[in-house]
Amino acid sequence: MKHSVVFEPLSHMVDGSRSGLTIHELIGSLGDGPTLGICGVIHGDEVTGAHILLDLFRVLKSVPFRGRLRLLPVANPHGFAAVERFTTIDRVNLNRVFPGATTGTYSEQLAELMTRVFFNKVDVLVDLHSGTDRPTVDYSYIFNDEGLARATGSKILYRPANEGRAYAGTSAVAILDRKVPVTVIELGGGVIDQAPYAARGVEMIINIMRHLKMIDGEVKRRADQIIIKDIKLVRPTQGGFIETAAPPLGERIKGGDILGRIISPYTFEELEVMKNPVADGIMILSHLTRNIIEPGDYAYMVGDLAGVET
Ligand SMILES: [Zn+2]
Repeated sequence: MKHSVVFEPLSHMVDGSRSGLTIHELIGSLGDGPTLGICGVIHGDEVTGAHILLDLFRVLKSVPFRGRLRLLPVANPHGFAAVERFTTIDRVNLNRVFPGATTGTYSEQLAELMTRVFFNKVDVLVDLHSGTDRPTVDYSYIFNDEGLARATGSKILYRPANEGRAYAGTSAVAILDRKVPVTVIELGGGVIDQAPYAARGVEMIINIMRHLKMIDGEVKRRADQIIIKDIKLVRPTQGGFIETAAPPLGERIKGGDILGRIISPYTFEELEVMKNPVADGIMILSHLTRNIIEPGDYAYMVGDLAGVET
């Protein structure tokens, strides 16, 4: 494997630093093949992708492959440093401004750089997202390539209507317009050890590389994989501690069952009980430890098993 690292500069910042994107290129020893691009941390508080790419790099030192990988472990360095979802310079959601603009907000300028030096130079894209420093999540998206999404090995695959174009400006929509196969993996997060999620993320990428014939061997198929078309997001109306009563991620939950409770850290009162809004649901996002949460934050995501496909 040949490895090079390029820093693609964007701007001089007020504090004297240079902003930009650090991109790795890994060229396999087995000859020609596709260029697989993988990026992480478009949302600065979703750090699991950076763990996955570091561990993937270490694993690939001893796994021969064909083609090349382009890795962008930290797409939003300012958000990453502050553990904040949005770019701290302009408080903009980077994943709503693709393909970006050279004369736009700072995030639009960063998105334009990313589009030009990264997205436009890959044949397949995997965009790694996760829960934040609070909730934990576990599913992958089907956009324009079901086989690619299935190769993630996620138990739960989510096929949004109209290829997910309801959210303009995401990485996926920018890539869809170029007809490049793309999936988004949502994996990990929370106040828990990320190592098991990083290890699973590496396995997902290795399996995707088998699917793309970059690595020899049979693609691992997951027998219990399901495709859902609707996810219900549950947000609390009260803030405080969140205590989960729901089953683990990937397990079923009946309609009306308790997802969790909001407890006042001040008076110890129970402020709110959140219930599963779906008649037959499956857990996708949850708080696995007692975390703090504000009204309106992501508390739970439940997949609707009505009309599920296998
Ligand atoms: Zn995200």
